[in-house]
Amino acid sequence: MKKPMTNAANTSKGMLLIISGPSGVGKTTITHHVEKQLHAVFSVSVTTRPKRPGDREGVDYYFVDLPRFQQMRDMGQLLEWAKVFDHYYGTPRQPVEAALAAGKLIILEIDVQGAIQIKAQLPEAFAVFVLPPDEPTLLQRLRGRKREDESVIQERFARASEEIARAKTCGVYNAFVVNDDLATATAQTVELVRRELAARRQAPASTQRP
Ligand code: 5GP
Repeated sequence: MKKPMTNAANTSKGMLLIISGPSGVGKTTITHHVEKQLHAVFSVSVTTRPKRPGDREGVDYYFVDLPRFQQMRDMGQLLEWAKVFDHYYGTPRQPVEAALAAGKLIILEIDVQGAIQIKAQLPEAFAVFVLPPDEPTLLQRLRGRKREDESVIQERFARASEEIARAKTCGVYNAFVVNDDLATATAQTVELVRRELAARRQAPASTQRP
């Protein structure tokens, strides 16, 4: 599924931050606030899913067809990849390695399958999972987005419950943030990442915890 990261990325002073969470939990908004406040780089994924209204090519995703995705994957150009809701998603390797080598904070907004793959290659990646306050609230938020019809909403809701369970048991997440109030959840995430960056600046690389 993936090749190990290069030495340049493994020995850099940059930090790889993973932000995951179920659809509708508000993770994209949190991710973009963290990106702005901490002057981070956002990793733009490639996907085979069709563009939705408002999606910007090269900003939100690189939209590719399946043969192109498979070619990138087979050439080792993806750091991780996964199939989510019948479409493929993957993280281009080169921008991540370049950001880490330059000592930057790079954010990957990816699902649990992707987070597991990244942590296997780069255990020092810092991973945050955004949780809804409870399941009825998540269902309400999915409906409130008015983006999908009810059958798609139910499919996303079922997958969300599975993803939350998997996130809690897979052992790759360093922290869980409950998004009850968006401003509070954003501030908590920024603070968590700030503290982690500060701790790493103080600790020699060899003593960093996973
Ligand atoms: P959406 O299509 O709604 O933007 O994203 C669907 C799901 O795919 C979300 O859980 C999102 O985090 C995940 N995702 C987006 N990009 C990637 C990626 O590059 N790799 C993986 N593993 N998941 C991704």
